Parts: sequence; C-alpha cells; structure tokens
Amino acid sequence: MEKSKIETALNILNKQLNQPLVAALEVCARCGICAEACHYYQAEPTPENVPAARAEELRKVYRQGNDFLSRLFPAWTGATQLTETKLTELADLAFNKCTLCYRCTINCPLGVDTPLLMTALRAMSTASGHAPEILEMLADAAIEKGRDTSIYLDFFKESIQDMEAELRSLTGNPNASIPVQKQGAKILYVALAGAHTILPAAAVFETIGESWTLSIFEAANYGLFLGDASRAKEIAKRIVDEANELGVEEIVISECGHAYYAMRWLAPNWFGDAFNFRVRSIVEVIAEYIQDARLQLDPSANPETITYHDSCNLGRKGGVIEESRLILQAAASNFYEMTPNREEAYCCGGGAGLVAVPETYDLRMLAGKPKADQVKRCGAQMVAAACENCRLQLGDLSGHYGLGVGVVSLVDVVVKAMRLPGAPESIEEQMTSKVHLKV
Ligand code: SF4
Ligand code: SF4
Repeated sequence: MEKSKIETALNILNKQLNQPLVAALEVCARCGICAEACHYYQAEPTPENVPAARAEELRKVYRQGNDFLSRLFPAWTGATQLTETKLTELADLAFNKCTLCYRCTINCPLGVDTPLLMTALRAMSTASGHAPEILEMLADAAIEKGRDTSIYLDFFKESIQDMEAELRSLTGNPNASIPVQKQGAKILYVALAGAHTILPAAAVFETIGESWTLSIFEAANYGLFLGDASRAKEIAKRIVDEANELGVEEIVISECGHAYYAMRWLAPNWFGDAFNFRVRSIVEVIAEYIQDARLQLDPSANPETITYHDSCNLGRKGGVIEESRLILQAAASNFYEMTPNREEAYCCGGGAGLVAVPETYDLRMLAGKPKADQVKRCGAQMVAAACENCRLQLGDLSGHYGLGVGVVSLVDVVVKAMRLPGAPESIEEQMTSKVHLKV
C-alpha cells in the first residue's frame, strides 16, 4: 500500500516535469535572499522557513530519480528516497508552509519559482491521498454541482428572487433585478456563495444599467488549491460552458483572488478556442465605470481612515493593482497606503486554501503576523480587501492581535459611496446587514 502511494506521488512529479518546473528544480544559488521575502520566515526566522530550504526538500527527491550522480552517490548530493514519512512531511510543507504568494519569486535574483515547486508538491500529495480532506470535499462538491444543476437550480432561483426584494429596497428601484441565465447578456457575473457577493455588485450593475446576468455557479476553485489541474479545469469548465451557452462578451469575477487568477490567467490555456471572451475582476469593471463617469460616488460617505490590502492572487499574480486605488480614492475620503504595498505587499497568511481548513488557525495566525503588524503600524480604522479569503483572514487577525480594524470589501465601500436610498447608514451596519451577510 505504502509503495503504491509513493509510486503515485513520483509518477505525478515526473508527469509535471516541464521546462518551467525543471528550471525551478535545477536553479538556485542558495543565496538566501528569499528568506526575508517570506511572511513565514518574517514571523518565525528559522532555517526551515526559508523558501529555498522548502524547495530543497523536493529537489532532494527529484535528484534521486533524475540525477545520475545522485543515484550513485546520494550522500554527496543530498538526494533522498521518497518514503511514506517523507511524503507526509512534504505534504505538510506544501499545504501548510507556503501560501503560493510569489513574494519570494519576485525578490529572488534568479526568479526561482518556489511556489511552482510547492504546487507540484501539492499535486503529488493530493494524488497520493495526503491533501486536506476539506479541500477535496469542496472541489468535488463543485464538480458534482456542474454535472447535474437540476438538483439545486430551483432553490437557487428562489433565493435570487428573495434577494431581488432586498436589491429593490437598497436601490430604491422597483424594477431592479438579478437576471439568471439571461441569453445574450454582455457580462456573466460569477459570485461566491452568499448574498454579500451578489447584492452589492447587482446594485452597481442595475444602477448604471449594465447588461448582465448572474452565473448559477460559484467562482471559487478548490481544485487549484489541491494542485490538481484536472479538477481545477473541470470546475472552471462549468463557467466556460455557461458563458458560451449564453453568448456573453465577458466573464466578471467577484472579489476573489484565486478565482480571478484561475479564470484570467490559467483557463485560457486550458480551453484554447472555446475560450473566446474577456475575463475581468469586478474591481477592474468598477474602476472603468468610475473613469468613464458612469458611476457617481460621494467619498464623504466613507470618512473613516481606510487602507488597502493587496491580495497576492489579484495583485502580484494577477496585475490588478492600480484599479483598487482608483476606486478607494473615488469612494473614500481618507484612504492611505500601508507599507509595503502593491507587488511587494505581504500575504495575509491565509491564502492558497488555508482559511478553509479549520485546523490551520494557529498556523495562520502565526503566518499572518507580518500583515497584522503592518495593519497596526498603519493605524487605519478600516482595511479594504478585494478577496474573500483575505477578508476572512484579516478579520481573524484583527481579533487575534486586537487590531480593532473593520474589514470591508471594495464593493461594499463603493455601494456606500453611491448614497443609495436603502443603504445602511454606516459601513459597520452594512457589514451586518443582509446586503453583506452570507445566505
Ligand atoms: S530561491 Fe532565489 S533568493 Fe532563494 S536562495 Fe535560491 S537563488 Fe537565492
Ligand atoms: S510563495 Fe510566499 S509563502 Fe511560499 S515560500 Fe514563497 S514567499 Fe513563502
């Protein structure tokens, strides 16, 4: 049994050995510059928390199977035979000790892609049965939903009708609607689970008269966290098929970093010619509405001091950076940056699926300490983040470290600045209202 798990893991490693992965496995000057870039090392400066040291654990296994000298003299090169114990250790490294944030890569003089190595390790761990069970369950549930939508579609449409009543009272527009499966709409908006990711975006779309429809699927892609390309592709395919069937011009992803990254940067390679629409984040779309003067905002509606946390997937990896600033400058009167920011922003410590795994709480709080310190130093009353994962982690960090900051979504800030007739008075009230609460 043990042997077959090891064989499975090695088989997956060998299958993934393309040029970028081999380059990441072969190249490292061992200079250690990446250490300070990693939030795990910043939180706990131990040798094993250096990104290159983590990568070395996979390199040892790779050398054993792929390097002639290592096969003859493993002690010389540090090559390691993969065992069940080693596999368990590697799975822990891949899933718990790296949030795939890419801060080490952009600070490495050689651009070594350590997160790519950690993703390869996740794939090996998943295939050999070492992935967190909850991530597998969430990925499989999403795939199942795509196979037979009839099971939940009626219930989904009923909940949307209830939400429409909320939308009408929020916007003061008795004709405001949340269209579902609308043929020929320009935008297919893909939300997360919960009204809080649907209603504020719907208020924006309906107020400016956008042609849009709501996806019947959720944007989250847990296949990505598993390092399992085939499950990630299957989850994305549900949305790609829906977009093709409806004939939309573009897919707009809710405030979710990894979902945006998967659909914007990975899916076009997965689907080739079947992928003939644009993909944007709701952040980019709202920034464009503001720039084109289609959306009028009153920044005095958000007088609190507010800062912005760059999600790694949306910012450093996704390239959506200045759009968030444009929105906050237009929607709030006291926006200022925490440092470092933009491409150099620290990960919140809860990315790559960690917030979905309850057992990782202590680890997340430790890994998120550099972010918590940053927020504290900055002294803002509010932190805005355009990623659900980051917001959950920032909320936990605020409680754990006594930061006393409110954590809000960018779209929540925008909706408040729209001065809609049914909008809650304060952002705190909005965060606890039905507009924000998960259903
Ligand atoms: S990964 Fe890059 S920064 Fe880190 S030790 Fe290797 S070469 Fe140096
Ligand atoms: S990707 Fe981020 S978490 Fe992973 S080793 Fe690099 S800096 Fe650390």
